[in-house]
Amino acid sequence: MTRSIYLIGCPLKHSISPDFQQAALDYCGLDIRYEPREVEEQLLPLMVEELRAPQTLGANVTVPYKEKVVHLVDRLDDLARAVGAVNTIVNEDGSLTGYNTDVDGFLAALGRAGFEPRGKVVVILGAGGAARAVGFALLVEHAALLMVANRTRARAERLVDDLGRYAREAGIVTQVVAVPWEEDWLKGAVRRCQLVVNCTTLGLRHTPDEGKSPLTDDMLSGDVMVCDLVYNPRETPLLKVARRIGARTIDGLAMLVYQGAAAFKLWTGEKPPLEIMFQAAEKALTEKGGLSL
Ligand code: NAP
Repeated sequence: MTRSIYLIGCPLKHSISPDFQQAALDYCGLDIRYEPREVEEQLLPLMVEELRAPQTLGANVTVPYKEKVVHLVDRLDDLARAVGAVNTIVNEDGSLTGYNTDVDGFLAALGRAGFEPRGKVVVILGAGGAARAVGFALLVEHAALLMVANRTRARAERLVDDLGRYAREAGIVTQVVAVPWEEDWLKGAVRRCQLVVNCTTLGLRHTPDEGKSPLTDDMLSGDVMVCDLVYNPRETPLLKVARRIGARTIDGLAMLVYQGAAAFKLWTGEKPPLEIMFQAAEKALTEKGGLSL
């Protein structure tokens, strides 16, 4: 019997997860199909219910549902509970467990780029599911200060409260503050930091925000590391700005593959073929322009 893993989100046109996950499943000789399911929010609970079927191993969850599915699964593993966002669901005999592999994926991507978060000042742009994982990762790695800026201020404040509470309970001294989503404030925050992470959807291909950057040339300086979680296009408008002014950059591809590899292990129990995944992801982005549907 062919088994299934789904990718749940909306929109999904930009996603290359089906390309590199299917390449890995095929390479390992597993009779499993990885299929995108673009669902509107009102159908999300029904879609999650479908994951309980015996032939379904689970799912990846992506924009904009990582926080919403937290309440739809039966159990959360400790990391997903602490982060407050789920990007991977595993079905075991009809019971669904939510995991978060974005945290490890992000840290692996930073490590690959040689960036050590300990003691650093970081600006996090966005306060959705991905920003939660990034904030949590930087907290547990003992960054000195996290400044969270989000278009919807209340969401940034919620994230700051959650991260601050976790830090206090865990005895972590990282400071976490919200910064207004306004040019002067963003400029001031970016000037103080060593790392900026774009966790918004600005710049994402096949969306109305394609071609947009959260920061402009005059807001960035050359001595800051700029990381964009958006991976399609690989060189986002923000990364173009960063490269133009001589800043070091980290694109979203490595995090995507590392978080996907961790999810692959959770569903299949097999060692993920990382090189195959990287090759397939790069091929999908360069040759197909990221179109996966
Ligand atoms: P999400 O939960 O839907 O959050 C979206 C974020 O983008 C929110 O902070 C939202 O602000 C902000 N945003 C949306 N449109 C905006 C606009 N026009 N101007 C300013 N801010 C805007 O999505 P997510 O799951 O966190 O994902 C965010 C991005 O990260 C996506 O592009 C996703 O593909 C990427 N990602 C990449 C990886 C990777 O492995 N490379 C992993 C995870 C996520 P509001 O709160 O104001 O709506």
